[in-house]
Amino acid sequence: MQDPNCLFCRIVAGEIPADIVHETERTISFRDIAPKAPVHVLVIPRDHVVSLGEAGDDHGPLFGELMLAARDVAAKEGLSDSGFRTVLNTGADGGQEVMHVHAHVLGGRSLTWPPG
Ligand code: AMP
Repeated sequence: MQDPNCLFCRIVAGEIPADIVHETERTISFRDIAPKAPVHVLVIPRDHVVSLGEAGDDHGPLFGELMLAARDVAAKEGLSDSGFRTVLNTGADGGQEVMHVHAHVLGGRSLTWPPG
């Protein structure tokens, strides 16, 4: 199910262009428009799920698929050996700006921890 007012649903629908790097039956992955690292890809479910905080117990398999898609994106981007970071921002204090769940995949340089 999609929300016509949601930016990422509109990317899934092909209404807004995106640089798609990986697709599965239930996920798509595309480059972040304002990359924070040499590789910065967002992995999202095709269905509209607001956030991890609002996920239901029945979303377990979908979140598993998101993580495995993140793994496959990292491999495609050549990050399997060097490593990468996978981030899910949730809600206001978590820094979530787009209310359609997305995993950031970041890599291509050494990333500091904790982030600022
Ligand atoms: P978050 O702050 O976790 O909600 O992350 C939202 C991310 O979406 C940010 O890193 C933005 O740069 C990114 N973003 C916003 N609009 C677009 C877009 N049209 N295409 C690709 N990435 C986007």
